[in-house]
Amino acid sequence: MDELMQDVAPEAPLGAIPGLPDYTQRGGTISIIAGPCSVESREQFDVIAACIAEEGLSWVRGGAFKPRTNPHSFEGLGEEGLRIMADAGARYGLKVLTEVMDSAHCELVHEYADGLQIGARNCQNYSLLRTIGEVSAESKKLVFYKRGMATTISEWLSAVDYITAAGNDNVMLCERGMRTFENATRYTLDIAAVPVVHKQSFIPICVDVSHPAGVRDIVPSLAYAAIAAGADALMIEIHPNPAHAKSDAAQQLNLEQFRGLLSNLRELAASFGKTLV
Ligand code: PEP
Ligand code: MN
Repeated sequence: MDELMQDVAPEAPLGAIPGLPDYTQRGGTISIIAGPCSVESREQFDVIAACIAEEGLSWVRGGAFKPRTNPHSFEGLGEEGLRIMADAGARYGLKVLTEVMDSAHCELVHEYADGLQIGARNCQNYSLLRTIGEVSAESKKLVFYKRGMATTISEWLSAVDYITAAGNDNVMLCERGMRTFENATRYTLDIAAVPVVHKQSFIPICVDVSHPAGVRDIVPSLAYAAIAAGADALMIEIHPNPAHAKSDAAQQLNLEQFRGLLSNLRELAASFGKTLV
């Protein structure tokens, strides 16, 4: 009987430490926002969306308008990319998150997507923040606001008001690593941003574990760290054939690696009394 009980009993979440606040306990779920760096074709995005839906998750990400360091690199499929994502989202029952790079694209992206991403390079583009807030004031679609690579937490939290004052307070922050002297990784992931944000605001915070890594083999470690720090969501780049990806080929996980990571993340999340959605 005892054995049977052990099989069905939910894992007890890690307890709070006497005398210290517990910044890991915000909500009972952790959203996983996975998808390719860039939407490349209908086939590519479809197989990714199918995998995410099969895993019982709710969101898929993809880039249609890509901020590239060099203007001769692949800049995304634009509106065709938005259409591909919206179609797959409808087919598999997933919400779609994608970046808005330019104020001129706000209405267009808002038409197709469920979540509007403000990329790191636009963190302090205040007119873009305001326009995104205005465009989504009625729909209250998610505004996914990434931290700039040289933005302090205080500057970041303060600028959220551009979005909320324009009429939409459905905001999620995203820590994605910053520039430091260290170059063993692409960016230095500021994992402490999670408890600091939880301490200073009620805004949920995601950790993008792919862009700070830059290479796929350390993505799992960053994902474990993000959950342990109390992240409300994780962003993970995945691709059916990462070696042939048109952007960020080195950091994307293939679908088998993604499934393996999810299985470990589910166990880790359970130890905090949380489930992945
Ligand atoms: C992205 O998420 O596609 C992206 C370009 O990220 P970042 O703005 O963090 O570089
Ligand atoms: Mn990318």
